[in-house]
Amino acid sequence: MSENITARLLRDWPLPMPDFKADKETRGHILIVAGSREMPGAVLLAATAALRAGAGKLTIATAASVAVAVGAAVPEARVIGLDETPAGGLRGDGTPGLIHACERASAVLIGPGMQDDAASCALVRSLLPHCADRPLILDAAGMRIAGGDGGNDDAVPAAGYHFASPVLLTPHAGELAGLTGADKDDISARPDAAARLAAQRWHATVALKGAVTIIANPENRQWRHEGGNTGLAISGSGDVLAGVIAGLAARGASLEQAAAWGVALHAMSGEQLALKHGPLGYLAREISNEIPALLRALA
Ligand code: AMP
Ligand code: MG
Repeated sequence: MSENITARLLRDWPLPMPDFKADKETRGHILIVAGSREMPGAVLLAATAALRAGAGKLTIATAASVAVAVGAAVPEARVIGLDETPAGGLRGDGTPGLIHACERASAVLIGPGMQDDAASCALVRSLLPHCADRPLILDAAGMRIAGGDGGNDDAVPAAGYHFASPVLLTPHAGELAGLTGADKDDISARPDAAARLAAQRWHATVALKGAVTIIANPENRQWRHEGGNTGLAISGSGDVLAGVIAGLAARGASLEQAAAWGVALHAMSGEQLALKHGPLGYLAREISNEIPALLRALA
């Protein structure tokens, strides 16, 4: 049985708050590994959302070809430029600054706007040992490792990648179908079962996104959220959600709590924007602007 995510459930599950003496490091340091030459905007969306969710410090690792532009667009961030593969993927090897950033972060998000599945798998695989027990959020191409599409690494069997440290995956039905080989329509018809199976299969928390979003953890707990509107079905919307969740995890929320709060805040933001602008036509980059006031209202 799923628990419905309501304002009441969230108020009874308060987020960790920084004490009044907190500095930016203790407020939560998020590392976002994301983007590509073709999709640098995904980094901006996720990064801004993580800060709007209350994280104190932000490091971005992105394609070297766009790193300076990303840094100018997100002046709050420290930006690490990564080498790129011919297919536009990010290479993590040979960048000591990336591993150092991973080891210093309080939460890590990998995936929004990344290209080249094989390179994305290799990057995630190389960073996993450095994430240790830090919460890791995998979105978009960052999730490919769970599908076993990791080249010739026998340690990643297609049927059952088992994460040893806390991981959240944020697929929509099409992505989950691509990772598991299941039929997308079957997943959409029975999202509760699909999310539960995925959480057990990978030993990870899974937020299966859609007009209804199901969050399942490996211990068989499940939450259900229904809200928001079709205005949220827009390019970049998932990048914002991933950033909000990552920012909350950096503040010290568990992955389940960060996912539940993040999904609800994202949907409520859509509802606020629909009131201001109309139900369609608001922009993904506007979503996270609503979050600080929503956080105050839910405190
Ligand atoms: P993505 O497909 O990765 O960009 O993510 C889209 C985001 O928008 C997810 O958080 C979905 O839950 C949300 N979303 C998509 N369509 C709807 C809808 N019709 N109503 C409410 N939320 C939606
Ligand atoms: Mg997405």
